[in-house]
Amino acid sequence: MVGANAAGVEAASAARKKDRTAEITLLTLEKNAGYSRCGLPFVIGGQIPNFRDLIVYPAAYFQMLKLNLRTETKVTGVNIKDKTVTIVNKDGATETLTYDSLVIATGADAFMPPIKGREKLGILSLRGLEDGERIDAVVKAGAKSAVIMGAGLIGLETGVALIERGLRVTIVEMLPQILPQMLDADMAKSVQEHLESKGMRILTGKTVEEFLGEEKVTAIMAGGERIDADLFISAFGVRANTKLAVDAGIPLGETRAIKTNARMETDVKDVYAVGDCAESPSIITHKVTCAQLGTIAVRQGKVAGANAAGDYALFTGVLVSAVTRLFDVEAGATGLTEAAAARNRMEVITGAISSKTKADYYPNAKPIKVKLVVEKESQRIVGAQIIGGEEVTQRINALSFAIQKQMNVRELAKADTAYAPPLCETWEPMVLAAEMVLMKLR
Ligand SMILES: Cc1cc2nc3c(=O)[nH]c(=O)nc-3n(C[C@H](O)[C@H](O)[C@H](O)COP(=O)(O)OP(=O)(O)OC[C@H]3O[C@@H](n4cnc5c(N)ncnc54)[C@H](O)[C@@H]3O)c2cc1C
Repeated sequence: MVGANAAGVEAASAARKKDRTAEITLLTLEKNAGYSRCGLPFVIGGQIPNFRDLIVYPAAYFQMLKLNLRTETKVTGVNIKDKTVTIVNKDGATETLTYDSLVIATGADAFMPPIKGREKLGILSLRGLEDGERIDAVVKAGAKSAVIMGAGLIGLETGVALIERGLRVTIVEMLPQILPQMLDADMAKSVQEHLESKGMRILTGKTVEEFLGEEKVTAIMAGGERIDADLFISAFGVRANTKLAVDAGIPLGETRAIKTNARMETDVKDVYAVGDCAESPSIITHKVTCAQLGTIAVRQGKVAGANAAGDYALFTGVLVSAVTRLFDVEAGATGLTEAAAARNRMEVITGAISSKTKADYYPNAKPIKVKLVVEKESQRIVGAQIIGGEEVTQRINALSFAIQKQMNVRELAKADTAYAPPLCETWEPMVLAAEMVLMKLR
């Protein structure tokens, strides 16, 4: 396994389940293996005391499963003819290892667009444990303000964390809305209003034009405005780490991530690719995507690991289900947004309703808004977005199951749901949103 994080560790564990005697080696550039990148913003925010707490798989796990883990080891080349990989180990020595099956799980790297001044010091990103420690150190050294470039999940979660640590935070986003991959503009607006009410300054529709400062960045120019700060975080997105595959002659797909089939095998026999560096098909459109989520990485890892050890497992594709919590608001989505449906030339009808998470009269009932995206012709549900004070994740999961099972909106409107005043409203908000769509269809 080249890579020993979400996808690589899952692949190794699945291979071990299938084959108790196989010799399984995991190689990683990093000092730590099997840790949660997803938890990084919450260490910065102070909810989790220590970056080391994010290590999900300690050394004992690898020993127990007899997995040969080699940290601080760089794979420098793959020879698909000889079935070997060349590595530079911890001590700087070069070695060649042979394989019967190879799983490439090299993940993704933070992306930096070609902005003037980008070679200057002090532009941080949040990808690994050490990145988190660097940001934490700047905060501890007395930073009072931060600029975050990019209003995706990582940018916003990091922005919230820094406000929780007492910094003034400005977010700069090139597109006209926040969370552009996850939410439609109407849903994103209410999340943005919530963030602004907590003191986050959000500039949408503004491009970062230049990094200013001598050796070290002290300000940026964005949309013609100079913004000074003590901390600069680039959250422009990530790009699949495919160099090894490309150098070895393993083909990439349309999205520039590694091309795979339903067994997570690449175009080269016995070589699999999984996680943030690999493509996967959308369950709805059947077009390839590269969604780069931890949930997808582990599901793909499980499939590839089993296959690498001689099993026959298939990956069903992705809906790109995702959730986040930003201060007091949870936001989640699954399937296509209305905008993504339009890009795929799919005619859809949407229905959105606002309700409460408990009976209206019950103390602390929180608002919740559900938006459904339904294909007009087939009436099947193809997407959902939910924003609420609580109880978003399991509703997103329920709608993800519904989409996966190709449920149509009429069936959802008749769903047999549960109710008790301290837990939910009599009419489940997902059902009300389905009725709203039916009304429009009529
Ligand atoms: C701040 C943050 C928050 C996130 N939050 C969420 C969330 O809430 N929910 C969610 O689903 N996803 C989230 N994600 C995404 C999730 O973390 C990734 O999708 C997941 O880590 C991908 O796993 P992976 O194993 O494919 O790649 P990575 O985790 O990137 O691991 C890649 C591995 O490859 C190794 N490697 C690369 N090149 C080489 C080489 N040449 N030689 C040896 N080793 C190499 C690396 O050392 C590493 O071990 C978040 C990501 C970040 C950064």
